[in-house]
Amino acid sequence: MKLIGEALRNLGKRPFTEKYPDEKPKVPLDLRGKVIHIKDRCIYCGICAKYCPSGAITVDRKNKEWKIDYGKCLFCQQCEEACRDIVKKNAIKLSSMYEMINRDKSEMVHKDKADTTPPGQPLPR
Ligand code: SF4
Ligand code: SF4
Repeated sequence: MKLIGEALRNLGKRPFTEKYPDEKPKVPLDLRGKVIHIKDRCIYCGICAKYCPSGAITVDRKNKEWKIDYGKCLFCQQCEEACRDIVKKNAIKLSSMYEMINRDKSEMVHKDKADTTPPGQPLPR
């Protein structure tokens, strides 16, 4: 009897559940989502990697390669703050993207490599 009463009371109300992924939820613009690396601003100093508490970022300073494993990221924003406040480069931004689903763990790894071709030289193939 109690259940029927509850059901009748909720008949006219909208569902509590969301229709994700058919309907995407509205997220705040300052959501700490997917980490974006802005390659052209990066000097490959490795400070972001030092501040990353989960070891998600690795930087090969010699070969100028920046790498992130999104599977390890905690979305804490410390890399962005370190790059902005210590290095003054603003080469990392946490975006409002929240969908990072992959079937394979290796697809969670993203690499950026600096273009080390001297000016005037053809780009490597
Ligand atoms: S701290 Fe900034 S400039 Fe330094 S390696 Fe990280 S992203 Fe690049
Ligand atoms: S958001 Fe936090 S956990 Fe993720 S890469 Fe940056 S410092 Fe590491």
